Amino acid sequence: MFKTAWLALLKPPKPSGDSPIPAAPDRERRPEKPQAQTNQQKNQRMSQQMSQQMKQITQFKDINLVDPIQKALGEVGYEEPTPIQAKAIPLILEGHDLLGIAQTGTGKTAAFCLPILNILHQKKVKPTPKSPRVLVLTPTRELAIQIHENLNLYGKHLQQKYAVIYGGVGQNKQVQSLSSGTDVLVATPGRLMDLCEQRLLKLDKVEIFVLDEADRMLDMGFMNDIKRILPMLPKQRHNLFFSATMPPAIQILATNILNNPKKIEVTPPATTVERIRQEVMFVDKDFKLSLLVYLLEKQEFKKTLVFVGMKHVANRVAEKLERAGITSSAIHGNKAQGARQRAIEDFTNGKVQVLVATDIASRGIDIDGITHVVNYDLSNLAESYVHRIGRTARAGAEGVAISLVTGEEKPYLANIERTTKLQIAVVTDHPFHSESAANASSTGSGPARQGGNRSGSRPRGRSSGGGTGNRGFSGSGSRTRSKSRTKN
Ligand code: AMP
Repeated sequence: MFKTAWLALLKPPKPSGDSPIPAAPDRERRPEKPQAQTNQQKNQRMSQQMSQQMKQITQFKDINLVDPIQKALGEVGYEEPTPIQAKAIPLILEGHDLLGIAQTGTGKTAAFCLPILNILHQKKVKPTPKSPRVLVLTPTRELAIQIHENLNLYGKHLQQKYAVIYGGVGQNKQVQSLSSGTDVLVATPGRLMDLCEQRLLKLDKVEIFVLDEADRMLDMGFMNDIKRILPMLPKQRHNLFFSATMPPAIQILATNILNNPKKIEVTPPATTVERIRQEVMFVDKDFKLSLLVYLLEKQEFKKTLVFVGMKHVANRVAEKLERAGITSSAIHGNKAQGARQRAIEDFTNGKVQVLVATDIASRGIDIDGITHVVNYDLSNLAESYVHRIGRTARAGAEGVAISLVTGEEKPYLANIERTTKLQIAVVTDHPFHSESAANASSTGSGPARQGGNRSGSRPRGRSSGGGTGNRGFSGSGSRTRSKSRTKN
C-alpha cells in the first residue's frame, strides 16, 4: 500500500549542537573504539556492542519489535522505517523520554505508536476501567481519529484496547469505550478535561504520556488545558513530546515535561518537501474564484485540496464550485464532527473532486492521492504554508501546490519565500494573470493596486521557469473562460 521511495523526501536530521537537550546518539558516525589493553572477555562484549551500534537500521526487522507488530507492518506494506522511526523507536523502547521535532508526513505517528504497543505488549498488565495506561494528547479531532486508526492498524494482532475521545459529538459512546479498560487513549484536551471533571476518566495510571503537535496546541489556545492536565498524571512516567517547531513557550513546556530527554529532529521546520511542484499565480481579488474554477476544470486536478483563510469563505467557495459543476465539500471548525468526517470520506473516496478547508485541515489530513493543493488565500505564516502544501505528494507521490496571490498577499509570499529559502515559480500563463498584483509591494507598505490584467486575453506565457510546465493550460477553450468568470 505504501511505497518506501518516499523516504527520499526527508532531509537527514539536522545536527543539534546548540540545544540544551542532548541529541540522540548517532550510532553510525560515532562507533566506540575498542580498547587495546582490555581482556578477551571484555573485548568480545565490546565488539558485540559495537556491531549492534553500527548495524544500520534499514528495515523494520532490524528493530526489536514483537512478531504481531512486525506482521501488521508487513500487512500495511511498511518495509523501511522513516528516519524519525529508525531513531525514535529504539530510544523509546529503551525507556528514554523523547523530544521529537517533526511534522506530519515524516512518519511520526508510527514512530511513537509502534514502541508504545511493544512496551504495553511486553508488560502484559490489564488496564483498570476508566484509567488508561497511555495517554496521547493531540490538538484536533482529525488527528485524534487518525492516530486511533493507526493504533488499530499496527496493533491488529495484539490483545490491546484503544479508545479515542474528542469534542463536538455526544460523550456516551466514548465513555462506554473507556469503562471496560483502555490501554491507549487518544484525546483532544477539551473532551479529556470534561470527562475528568465528571470523574468518568482518571489519569492516575498513565505510564506513557505523548504530547503530539505541541506547537499546534499552543496556536489553538490549549496551553491552559495542558497545564491543568499535567498535574493529573503520575509524576513517574515516560514522556514523548512532538512538535514541528520549537518557539520559546514550547521549549519551556518541553523542559517542564521531559526528564533528561533524547532529542531527534527531522526535516527542519520551515523546509518544504522537494517533490512538490510549487507555483504562484498572481490574480486580482475579484477573479480568484474564476481562476480557481478555470484550474479545477483541467483534467489533472483530480483530487484538489483548496485552502481558504476563513470558515465562511470555505462554505462560499464550495457552494460556488458546486454551482460551476465541480463537486466539492467544505470542512472547517464550525462544522459538526459528522459533517467533517463525511466531507473527508467523500473526498477520500473520490465522490467529490475538491475539499475546501481552513487551516484545520493543514496538518490533520492524511489522504493519499491529493494531486493538487491550492492556496486560495495565502497564509501569512510560512509554517502554515509548509503544512498545507505537505498534504500533497504523500507516500511517494508527486504533487502540485499553487498559490493564488493578490497584491495584498504579496508580503505573505515574500515571507514564505524568505523562510523556506525558495523562490516559487510564477506562472503567468492563465487568463486571470494580474500584472498589478505581480508588481505590488512585497513589504506591505501601502495598499496594493488592483485591476491589472483582467482582460481574459491570453497572457504572454510563463514568466519564470522552475516548474515542470503547466500541462493542459493551453487550449482550455472559451467555455472555461466565460463560465469561470464568476465574481466572488
Ligand atoms: P505521519 O507523519 O505519521 O502522519 O505519516 C505520514 C504517512 O506516511 C502516513 O500515510 C503513514 O501511513 C505513512 N508511513 C508512516 N511510516 C511509514 C513507513 N515506514 N513506510 C511507508 N509509509 C509510512
